[in-house]
Amino acid sequence: MSVEERTYIMIKPDGVQRNLVGKIIARFEERGYKLVAMKFVHASPEHLEKHYADLKNKPFFPGLIKYMAAGPVVAMVWQGLDAVKTGRVMLGATNPLQSPIGSIRGDYCLAVGRNICHGSDSVESAEKEIKLWFPEGTVEWTSAMESWIFEEN
Ligand code: UDP
Ligand code: MG
Repeated sequence: MSVEERTYIMIKPDGVQRNLVGKIIARFEERGYKLVAMKFVHASPEHLEKHYADLKNKPFFPGLIKYMAAGPVVAMVWQGLDAVKTGRVMLGATNPLQSPIGSIRGDYCLAVGRNICHGSDSVESAEKEIKLWFPEGTVEWTSAMESWIFEEN
């Protein structure tokens, strides 16, 4: 676990259409994570098939690609202590009905096929997803708040 750990977080087309972009970004900012990449993009089905390659044999795969290609998404990379696992806790469970109140899905959505956000499930998939969505790389910068969020070593 490191303060440099990075995760790929995406606001899905329903999150964008429902004007939840600001609220979702605010949760990561307020928790203390650092934004190191962000873009607004209408992804192609081919790109989304790569992103979800592990799920290609699932019965819901065609519907998932159609949903994800139906509008623009906000693609982001957030960095900080335990970003991958804690990022998933902040999103909630895949099924919003099983997501605790206080999590993003638990507060803002109801259906598994309209669950408004994505977060990497491991450090390895985060690195893969970051390369897929940000082949140009991420932005290195020092946050003025760093020493108020993490103890200095
Ligand atoms: N999904 C779905 N039906 C299912 C399971 C998943 O429509 O029965 C969708 C849902 O949008 C989910 C995405 O497929 O977020 C990817 O599934 P995964 O199991 O990777 O869940 P996640 O990592 O997003 O929680
Ligand atoms: Mg997943």
